[in-house]
Amino acid sequence: MRGKRLLMIPGPIEFTDEVLSEMAVPTLSHVDPEFIELFGQALERMRGVWLAPHGQPFAIAGSGTLAMELAAANITEPGDNVLIVHTGYFSDRMADIFRLHGANVDVVPSAVGDLPQVEAVRAQLKAKRYKTISITHVDTSTGARADIKAFAAAAAETNTLVVVDGVCAVAGEELRMEDWGVDIAFTASQKAVGVPPGLALLVASQRALAVHRARRSTVRAYYCDWKNWLPVMEAYEARRAAYFGTPAVNLVRALNVSLGQILAEGMEARFARHARNARALRAGLSAIGLTFLPVREEIYANTLTAPYYPDGIDATVLAKIAEEGAMLAGGLYPSIKTKYFRIGHMGMSDKSEILATLGAIERGLARAGYSFPIGAAVAAAQSEYKKA
Ligand SMILES: *Cc1c(COP(=O)(O)O)cnc(C)c1O
Repeated sequence: MRGKRLLMIPGPIEFTDEVLSEMAVPTLSHVDPEFIELFGQALERMRGVWLAPHGQPFAIAGSGTLAMELAAANITEPGDNVLIVHTGYFSDRMADIFRLHGANVDVVPSAVGDLPQVEAVRAQLKAKRYKTISITHVDTSTGARADIKAFAAAAAETNTLVVVDGVCAVAGEELRMEDWGVDIAFTASQKAVGVPPGLALLVASQRALAVHRARRSTVRAYYCDWKNWLPVMEAYEARRAAYFGTPAVNLVRALNVSLGQILAEGMEARFARHARNARALRAGLSAIGLTFLPVREEIYANTLTAPYYPDGIDATVLAKIAEEGAMLAGGLYPSIKTKYFRIGHMGMSDKSEILATLGAIERGLARAGYSFPIGAAVAAAQSEYKKA
């Protein structure tokens, strides 16, 4: 459509019409029976999306960074040892938050665009007693994806709590919270969950809740303390109202609709669709000579792709690509920020959006003076889809 630009960044993303219309209906009281029902349903649906039938969902007004702090603040006491699996910008942020809440943080390092080997992490877990390990599922600064199942299995050998920053992953990348033994997994509404920005969404295992209950020190963040929020989440699920802080009423309505759409598609189909779209996008970009920041194919994310600018092209091409119809994001990893860009492809975006994005990238690159066979990216993506 003329003037319409696809929002293909790692959140906010393109939202469905059904989700967007929930934002425009008159705001109900947070104790209105209709809202109580919708909030209760949304919490139940979170369990389905996280694949955590016994997990405790929390949906709280705030961004993904609040979800990070909710995780760290509630299970950390001063002096606890925490191990961070280094992935990039967001694992560094998680380390800062754990430190703020009193943890002694160790980091298993990795090179840019890479992840630590599971073996190195297992060895570190055995060398020193850690209460918690924290892993970023997809680091949005690099587009590299961690093998959560393997890291969580390693952590199980030492009974270490597993925290997963799934902000660029939940509802797009395969995550089986309960089967894999993950204790806390969180995201934010504007990423693959497909709701405008403003909700921090977290599911905690019963073990994580028990760790919180057994604390000897208070949580040093009033708005984060599960003690304040757990009775509220339990009440709405039991279809009663309760108050600690006013819920983001319209966002919760939109969340309920989006989670309903996600579950109607089915988690297996959704994981497969994200993988298919990512393969088609990469096939297209590779066909016109672009290469990717993650160092190995097995760690390429399905929700986000981070290509390097080709020779002779810099970040100014992004404005041209936007004029051609697709908003993309610049680099984020500080040391190589100017060398690459990022394409978000999560939520309901599918073949049409991927092909339109590749078309806009081709026209933008051509206008910026990059020489390549125009149409080759779209053609390669089409053949990839034909295989699937
Ligand atoms: C986006 C993101 C965050 C932060 O979320 P905000 O909503 O921007 O606060 C944290 N972790 C990861 C992996 C993200 O992609």
